[in-house]
Amino acid sequence: MDTEKGQTFEFQSEVKQLLDILVYSLYKNKEVFLRELASNAADALNKMQFEILTEPDLADKDQELKITIAIDKKHGKLVVEDNGIGMSQEELIGNIGTIAHSGTLDYLKKISESPAKSQVDLIGKFGVGFYSSFMVAKEIHIVSKSWQKGSRAWLWKSRGESSYTIEETEKAARGTRIELFLKKEEKEFLEIQRLKHIILKHSKFVPFPIYLEGEKIERKDAIWTQPKSKLNEKDYADFYKFLENTQEEPETYLHLSSDAPVQFTAVLFVPKTSFELLGLMKSEPGVDLYSKKILIQKGSKDIMPEYLRFVKGVIDSEEIPLNISRETIQSNVRIDKIKKHVLKKLLEHLDGVKTKNRDQYLNIWKNFSKNFKEGAVSDYENREKLSQLLLFASSKTGADQLTDLKEYVQRMPEGQREIYFLGGSDRQAIEKNPALEIFRKKDHEVLYLLDPLDEFVLDHLREYDKKAFKMAESADIPLEEKADTADAAYLQDAENLVVYLKAIYGEQVQEVRISRRLTDSPCLLLNPADGPSVQMEKIMKMVNKDYQLGKRVFEINPENSLIKKMVALHKQDPAMPLLKTLALQLLDNMKLREGILSDTEATIARIQQIMFEAAVPPRTDMGGPA
Ligand code: ADP
Repeated sequence: MDTEKGQTFEFQSEVKQLLDILVYSLYKNKEVFLRELASNAADALNKMQFEILTEPDLADKDQELKITIAIDKKHGKLVVEDNGIGMSQEELIGNIGTIAHSGTLDYLKKISESPAKSQVDLIGKFGVGFYSSFMVAKEIHIVSKSWQKGSRAWLWKSRGESSYTIEETEKAARGTRIELFLKKEEKEFLEIQRLKHIILKHSKFVPFPIYLEGEKIERKDAIWTQPKSKLNEKDYADFYKFLENTQEEPETYLHLSSDAPVQFTAVLFVPKTSFELLGLMKSEPGVDLYSKKILIQKGSKDIMPEYLRFVKGVIDSEEIPLNISRETIQSNVRIDKIKKHVLKKLLEHLDGVKTKNRDQYLNIWKNFSKNFKEGAVSDYENREKLSQLLLFASSKTGADQLTDLKEYVQRMPEGQREIYFLGGSDRQAIEKNPALEIFRKKDHEVLYLLDPLDEFVLDHLREYDKKAFKMAESADIPLEEKADTADAAYLQDAENLVVYLKAIYGEQVQEVRISRRLTDSPCLLLNPADGPSVQMEKIMKMVNKDYQLGKRVFEINPENSLIKKMVALHKQDPAMPLLKTLALQLLDNMKLREGILSDTEATIARIQQIMFEAAVPPRTDMGGPA
């Protein structure tokens, strides 16, 4: 629809809902709108700085890049202006009237309904920063002119309801001017002292001068160019808060500088929360690449491996040519060297946290274990360091404790050569697995893999400290011969039962054999050497329903009283129908335990048959205890 001057546009319906959430429920801490405007202005200035470097014959290239804030008390107006790249008409429509990330709205809704809403500072995280100005303004005008040659200037107007208008206007210089017509009750944002306080609180690291009513506000210098000895914890925390538009402290940080073989400085942070874990979107890379304090790439994909996308911070190197194009960053040898070096140090730092402060590391693990596992399977070069970072439940840790591989190896008794693991849905289920009996007996530790990903990870890593990972359910674990307590004649009878069972089971199993590892349970299903575990196979079956489960090895324990009975029955009469029923049920019980039983109806019928046989009428010739 065209009005006499401008053109009217509807906001995306999502934007309308977002505005409602922002204005009426989500946000108590309204002052952050200024932080968002300053940060948008700084982004626009950063981009301009980059353009000036790469296109030297740009007009106005000697202008000071800056942010100015002006107060117009008479009209109740606050104005934030920058001489950054500005926006064309299309950019105004594309950037301001939409929400960048799908899922943002749902997430914000959820947060706004939760009791902790006032503690969460999310505005800057989701590309909805600009809208936060509607918390304090009843109407907003954006006057913007793109830096591109021949651009025209545009006036964007909205009352934050359902629509906005755009019309052509006059503006001499490139850049963006945001005019907030404040609500009656928000006039405090016209007070110089109040504004100055907000800027110092939230925006002191903005890398461009900020002028408030003509006066330059003292800013902090880029933290990474200062010597470590001059900085304290609070400086780092403040910088992190600035960088991430948050009020949350970082979990841990690392400040590096190097002169050889490549020059760089880096300040890196691990956050206290994981946004991926909260169920939102995949995080974007969080480390910005600078060259001599000039931003070359925000959230660079090329300076950190993808699995470390949760790491925030900056890397600055004077060896990166200022006019490097974004496409060639990837193939730049120096950047690659820096990347390797920083990565090594960061992984070592995390390992250090794990050793020195386990509680802190447990929080990092809670948030980012998935990322470390992703790294362990994808980053071949650093797999040793990444496997150091992994934690597991284990047969030798308490119920809520975790161990790392180094500690496991230190506990290994003489003679143990491999690192054993066993998967399952929870600790209790794993501990009931008869496969563990022999490990208990020999006092060999077994890692409990509670996350289905873990088996993939160990499968990929193959070994740690030259010790191969080995599934405790594997059929080919080197075990001592079990001392023969049974007499030779009985063992022969048991072997005969083995032959009988194999004939009954046919293709259902690969092999039936006498167990050398069971101490209590009657029987056990094992994995043929190096075959995937049942847990893994179940996943494969979910992915591909035609997947055929591998055949397994069935072991019986001749010392077990049920097996003893079956040996006796077999010796008495191998054709006895009950023996066959028991044999089939023995295998089905194991399948049931592993969750791979397919013909439940047949099993139920068989159990009922066994119940019928067992339901002997009570004997009257024997009394109970006196
Ligand atoms: P975010 O900054 O998180 O992307 P915003 O809603 O604050 O989300 O801004 C949306 C987009 O509008 C920005 O990504 C940017 O492209 C554009 N924009 C906002 N402010 C400015 C500005 N002062 N100069 C140029 N572009 C801007």
